[in-house]
Amino acid sequence: MIEGLRETVLGADRGQKILSAIIGQGDAKEKILASLLAGHHVLIEGPPGVGKTTLTKHIASALPAVEVVKGCAYHCNPVEPVCPHCRAKQASGEALETETISGARRFIRIQGSPDLTAEDLLGDVDPTQAFKFGPQDFRAFTPGKLLKGNRGIVFFDELNRVPEKLQNALLQVLEEGIATIGPYDLDYPANFVMVATMNPKERAGVEELSDVLLDRFDVVKMTYPETPEQEQDILERYGLRLDGVQVPPEVTQSIISLVRATREEPWGKEMEQGVSVRGSMALYEKVQALALLEGRSTSEKGDIHRMAASSLTTRVKPSPDSKYYDDIPGFVDELVKEVMGDAA
Ligand SMILES: [Zn+2]
Repeated sequence: MIEGLRETVLGADRGQKILSAIIGQGDAKEKILASLLAGHHVLIEGPPGVGKTTLTKHIASALPAVEVVKGCAYHCNPVEPVCPHCRAKQASGEALETETISGARRFIRIQGSPDLTAEDLLGDVDPTQAFKFGPQDFRAFTPGKLLKGNRGIVFFDELNRVPEKLQNALLQVLEEGIATIGPYDLDYPANFVMVATMNPKERAGVEELSDVLLDRFDVVKMTYPETPEQEQDILERYGLRLDGVQVPPEVTQSIISLVRATREEPWGKEMEQGVSVRGSMALYEKVQALALLEGRSTSEKGDIHRMAASSLTTRVKPSPDSKYYDDIPGFVDELVKEVMGDAA
């Protein structure tokens, strides 16, 4: 359990304040808090743009400040340092200077990708230097990204994009809290809580997560905003507002209807992935920009027609068996006509 996490979750407002940054998702938020309280790692399954990163950052920001070795990238505890540099200093009797870091800095993000290696994640040992000084020595051992999450939250985005070999390397870390570097028998403690994400529908470049790895996580599902009203709240709270341009409610509602249609039947079944909340946000901002460009103070429904293609075509992924697979502009065009009618 990382320092202060339990107190943060059980704080005066029982974690609700941390989670108020995300609109809706009540069920997922409660499960995430319960898992963190129990000291478990969490895997959030859900489409892009539903607030997984924002949520995790807010949890980290609510963590208390901690004292660390000054300048240490791994936030070593001065009493019990874990990185090779701080260990060497301590061993030589040198006093470790300290500084205090805020909760927001107790957060690191790792992007899952097929190119990510065990060395990137756990660390790398230089064989020549290890021969001279031993594998634990700071001249031989460079810790990996995971150790940068020491005493904090490691946000591992798109965990399902990492190769199987790396999943196996992660297994021990998550299970025992110890990272072992390959042939060197070099162990170091890995003290963090991991919040990982996976995107359920996307197929390209996705590895199946092994059952044993899944078993190390509490899996929580986050969804697109449950209701159009919640999505409207999100746009109005987080969308950019361009100089004095009004967005009448019926314009916002039309944007939301259009975007939600890409996720729901019947249009949704043509899609491997519909438009995310970031997509509705983009359209919401662009109708304002268009009004501004044309010297109007109010955006109109017709602006949606004119901006839909440029905002949505790169944000939908038709299924391989859909007739729109090679014709996304055609899809957007028909969708707009169907959902909004012809009136421009
Ligand atoms: Zn250190």
